[in-house]
Amino acid sequence: MGSPKPGGGTDGRRVLLAAPRGFCAGVERAVTTVEEALELYGAPIYVRRQIVHNKHVVHALERQGVIFVDEIESIPEGSIVIISAHGVAPSVHQEVARSQLGAIDATCPLVTKVHNEARRYISDDYDVLLIGEEGHDEVLGTLGQAPERIHLVNESDDVVDMGVRDESKVVWLSQTTLSVDETAKTVARLKRIFPLLESPPSDDICYAAQNRQAAVKQMAPECDLLIVVGSKNSHNSSRLVSVALEYGAGSAYLVDGAMEMDEDWLRGAGTVGVTSGASAPEFLVDGLLEWLAERCYDEIEVVRTATESQKFALPRELGRARDELLNFARMDGDETQRGLPPSIEV
Ligand code: SF4
Repeated sequence: MGSPKPGGGTDGRRVLLAAPRGFCAGVERAVTTVEEALELYGAPIYVRRQIVHNKHVVHALERQGVIFVDEIESIPEGSIVIISAHGVAPSVHQEVARSQLGAIDATCPLVTKVHNEARRYISDDYDVLLIGEEGHDEVLGTLGQAPERIHLVNESDDVVDMGVRDESKVVWLSQTTLSVDETAKTVARLKRIFPLLESPPSDDICYAAQNRQAAVKQMAPECDLLIVVGSKNSHNSSRLVSVALEYGAGSAYLVDGAMEMDEDWLRGAGTVGVTSGASAPEFLVDGLLEWLAERCYDEIEVVRTATESQKFALPRELGRARDELLNFARMDGDETQRGLPPSIEV
């Protein structure tokens, strides 16, 4: 850890606050979808897997009557289920239909874009090398688009024989939240093995992951300590820790909030960097900044590397359901009537 730097607050202590940070457009959309579904249908609403990978978001929704389940089979017939932002394999959509559930799909449109790309290449007879983290919900959903023709390449593992059928028809795709630099290295390794490897027409690593990494890259060299607010299972958040260390932060930790901070981390630290993953609510960052201010890290300098304006429309099923419920209530004269609108088939 370096020594305190001049020009900061008390004894040179200061905070560099990354911008952009926190909620991305896909997470905003997924959380709003669940909240609107609760308002339209009342509790309980079922969500397959965590709607986004943040335990505060999940617990807050649980308190409002959301039930998170691992598998569709545990949801009672006739219920409403929301598909999480990470997306699912077609087999899960088929299971939802078989189980007589009303489904609202909150898959992030940028994940859907990767699914569509994968299916397009498969229909053109390619094999797909998917760079991603084994077992991650998003990766399971993308692999499930064509399990026999999409081969998982773990970011850090050696590439082994993957059973590619024709080395002249192979393309790489990736999980949306990977480290930009690590992915470039993995692609370079793959190209040594498959010289004719094709790249997707546009980046699969989403704007939010790239922007949060860029801000960390800029401030890490000045940080004795860098704190990322996010849950342990949030892939984009854990990547921010690796990027911080790679770009020169003295140390870096992932915390769910101020309650996980350790006083020892501050020993000798002049500049503390703060950022948050794409699924971490801003009130957790506020809590961390208060915790730091109580320890004299009360000078805050914002490090902005991009401005985000991306927004995604809510799932179509929600708009249709809202219109139909309103019409139904108007006809019935009872706006509190609860029921499944015909647009969400059960
Ligand atoms: Fe979508 Fe990117 Fe947010 Fe994931 S991190 S939900 S891909 S915008």
